Amino acid sequence: MKPRVRFAPSPTGPLHIGGVRTALYNYLFARQLGGSMILRIEDTDQGRFVPGAEEYIIESLQWCGIQFDEGVHVGGPFGPYRQSDRKEMYKQYADILIESGNAYYAFDTAEELEEMRKTQSNFQYDSSTRLELNNSLTLLASEVKELIESGNHYVIRALIPADEEVVVVDHIRGEVKVNTSTLDDKVLFKSDGMPTYHLANIVDDHLMEITHVIRGEEWLPSAPLHVLLYRFFGWQAPEFAHLPLLLKPDGNGKLSKRDGDRLGFPVFPLRWVDPKTNEISSGYRESGYIAPAFVNMLALLGWNPGTEQEIFDMDELIAAFSLDRVGKSGSKFDPEKAKWFNQQYLRMMSDIELGKALQNIAREKGIETDEDTAVNVAGLVKDRAVFVKDLWEQSSFFFQIPDAYDEAVIKKRWKADTAAHMAKLAEGFEAMKTFSPEAIDEEIKSFLTENELGMGAIMNALRLCMVGGGMGPHLADILSVVGKENTLLRIRKAIETIKT
Ligand code: GLU
Repeated sequence: MKPRVRFAPSPTGPLHIGGVRTALYNYLFARQLGGSMILRIEDTDQGRFVPGAEEYIIESLQWCGIQFDEGVHVGGPFGPYRQSDRKEMYKQYADILIESGNAYYAFDTAEELEEMRKTQSNFQYDSSTRLELNNSLTLLASEVKELIESGNHYVIRALIPADEEVVVVDHIRGEVKVNTSTLDDKVLFKSDGMPTYHLANIVDDHLMEITHVIRGEEWLPSAPLHVLLYRFFGWQAPEFAHLPLLLKPDGNGKLSKRDGDRLGFPVFPLRWVDPKTNEISSGYRESGYIAPAFVNMLALLGWNPGTEQEIFDMDELIAAFSLDRVGKSGSKFDPEKAKWFNQQYLRMMSDIELGKALQNIAREKGIETDEDTAVNVAGLVKDRAVFVKDLWEQSSFFFQIPDAYDEAVIKKRWKADTAAHMAKLAEGFEAMKTFSPEAIDEEIKSFLTENELGMGAIMNALRLCMVGGGMGPHLADILSVVGKENTLLRIRKAIETIKT
């Protein structure tokens, strides 16, 4: 049977990168086995609904190249795929559980439950307390009927058996055994007509014929209840795989937005503007990450291929992925490694692609340059860039004559006789016919020999004339791209401006 998997986010805010990883692993698993990938929106908790979150989730996954066969945005034979649009479907399933004696009505008010919590520490609505509370297990059938008919507030709770062992078989954790006496009688349905996450999730996974539930470890504590619900309904449960958490770069807790703010990296795929507070959270896309690099980095946070290979495109990930190689322990998020991946992908981009990007950045700065020059320059500096935007920082001096000169470099490299050397060197350049990097190197070499000078006497000073500081690629490459006329202009300007 071909697997059917789903990514089932709740639209309560932007999608955390841990959620993107969950979607990615589902996708890799489904694609490898020729199965189906489904996007289901779990929005039964109306109180936590955030406008724009669903669109954000869809756009994020699209950016990552995670494609869906069915879902809220693409449709499909098992729709609707948004739980609020399936609202009418759930009550009948709650009724089935009531009828089979696996669920019951509870009428306790919030105040009554609050009171219980105050008087009993560790109060739980469960097999040890339910017979003292206000529910259809303790009331007469006629009283229950009357309470419901007269519009009283109620919820439907799962009747968790006392003292039984439930086994969750998990692809990553193995057999997880839990005694039911530790579980509470979770609310499955509310009198506002909405199911809770637990009921809707199980009903939908069943109706959508989901074969594998691959989700974050924070849902592991819910899994025993889910296993029980499948049993109550007499349905076959899907297979489970609970993915380990993404951890803070420093310390052991779960990676949170606060860590990103504190350490200066995004924890969301795309930029997010909170609709209530207008607070802006940065995103990987807007920070200049290349989507395949971001995906590659996420894939390796928790899964290891068992080889030294680190660079995988999506097709390679699909071919190599396996749940068996997802570790049990959490993975520390490493923002530096994220940059490393971006750098690797940037280096794999062609000079032409990068040159065009550089040409666009230059244009935004009001500088027109021809494509050949931009491509040439991009090729010279790309090894120094992590992000496309770094190309400009690394190369702006190719396109602009320096308007300031680094004081520290002047102090160290501009001696009393430097201006004279530069003037003489410029004469030599002026007489050159081809201004190629090789010819420039030759010219400099013969200048040094003729004048009995060492490299140190002129190279750093010449760089200062050309770029205004001590950075940049091979000097002859810079001169050649800048061209003879402009080289001479820069040397003259430096001689006039730099005073020691
Ligand atoms: N709606 C849940 C979430 O927001 C889905 C959990 C699951 O995959 O079962 O993560």
